[in-house]
Amino acid sequence: MVFESKRWKYIFGPVPSRRLGRSLGVDTVPLKTCNWNCVYCQLGRTKPLVANRREWFPREEILEEVAAALDEPNRGEIDWITFIASGETTLHAGIGW
Ligand code: SF4
Repeated sequence: MVFESKRWKYIFGPVPSRRLGRSLGVDTVPLKTCNWNCVYCQLGRTKPLVANRREWFPREEILEEVAAALDEPNRGEIDWITFIASGETTLHAGIGW
């Protein structure tokens, strides 16, 4: 079962993945924040390219949502947490934290 709600700002899923099973997605950057411009990108063209890392969203808020999602009984089993979605996730300066 995939559970979604509008109250979640930084996470989605879990979504089925052939490699990972059921993967909870964590989105650390605003839509199309990326330092690449891949021709196959499902998000469209990158305008402008972003090369500077910064704390796009408060790291504590992201972590709180991940913790809440792991406690959410309706969300179902989660095999992996995946940093993915709206661009280059490592452009978040706090991702190591
Ligand atoms: S989001 Fe991913 S696929 Fe799209 S331009 Fe950036 S690196 Fe390429």
